[in-house]
Amino acid sequence: MIAIRFQFPTDPSEVQLLMRAVACLLAVLFLAAAGSAVAQERHLIDPMLPGSLNPKPLPPLKNPDAPSTPAKELFARKSTPFPGPPRSIGGDFDGCLAGAVSLPITGPTWQVMRPSRNRNWGNPQLIRFIERFATKAKKVGWNGLLVGDMSQPRGGAMLSEHTSHQIGLDVDIWFAPMPDHVQSSEEREFGSATDVVAPDLRDVDPEVWTHRHTALIRTAAQDPVVVRILVNAAIKKALCREAGADRTWLYKVRPWYGHAEHFHVQLACPADSAECKPPAPPLPSDGCGSELDFWFKESTLHPPPRKPKPALMLAGLPPACKQIVKAP
Ligand SMILES: [Zn+2]
Repeated sequence: MIAIRFQFPTDPSEVQLLMRAVACLLAVLFLAAAGSAVAQERHLIDPMLPGSLNPKPLPPLKNPDAPSTPAKELFARKSTPFPGPPRSIGGDFDGCLAGAVSLPITGPTWQVMRPSRNRNWGNPQLIRFIERFATKAKKVGWNGLLVGDMSQPRGGAMLSEHTSHQIGLDVDIWFAPMPDHVQSSEEREFGSATDVVAPDLRDVDPEVWTHRHTALIRTAAQDPVVVRILVNAAIKKALCREAGADRTWLYKVRPWYGHAEHFHVQLACPADSAECKPPAPPLPSDGCGSELDFWFKESTLHPPPRKPKPALMLAGLPPACKQIVKAP
């Protein structure tokens, strides 16, 4: 049963994740112009695109009301949240967010990376999770979190890098601890991420990976609001090896393409978000058996490029999202 599941994604959320991987690959083609083949290969597994010191507003759309306007073009042009109580609406791949709260870019135990993207917004549940997780991470020897993308002010599809992160319940955490100083804008926008996977993609890089990485992911997975964590398969392999006797948290940590420079944490629908579509829970096994083999096949390590799915339109979202993205 497990083998069938991992031969090819079968549930819709995994198909969507696959599309995300394809989007990552396309971004990589863009990056491929620079650097050696080795550098490209390492980048290929996680392009952390730099931000900007002077982000310019996007030009207005010629015809924003046309049904052919992709939802991402509308959501990306909203720089403020939709007011009112917090609501995560729809699914991670086809939803939006009202009443979003921003994570301060500098906290006592975290710093937001690439703040020019304005993607440090989430359901208040996500903000509370990050604060809680950052405090616990400190206790396992991780010097604070570097926080990557969360959601846009009104959630929804993004112009680059993600097809998920739409309802304010996802966060990417970098695989590098926060430095001891408050980072400058330059450091946050252009600092390079740490790739913890070995160049052959078959295990973690022993020069970079530490037991503290395992402790960090375990700490996140043990939080009851966390449904799923996505990591590169090489990292999953290392976690399986290093987990020790308590393996109860491992089932939440799932292998996926990329995710070598950050891990993706997905939270459950908050009780007060009645319109939130709950994510499918991962299988209750620790995922350390033969199901991992799929991820180390040559065709999985180096998948051929795939055609991206047609862009999501407003008509494909819950009706409330139209009101949320159209409001001033
Ligand atoms: Zn993510």
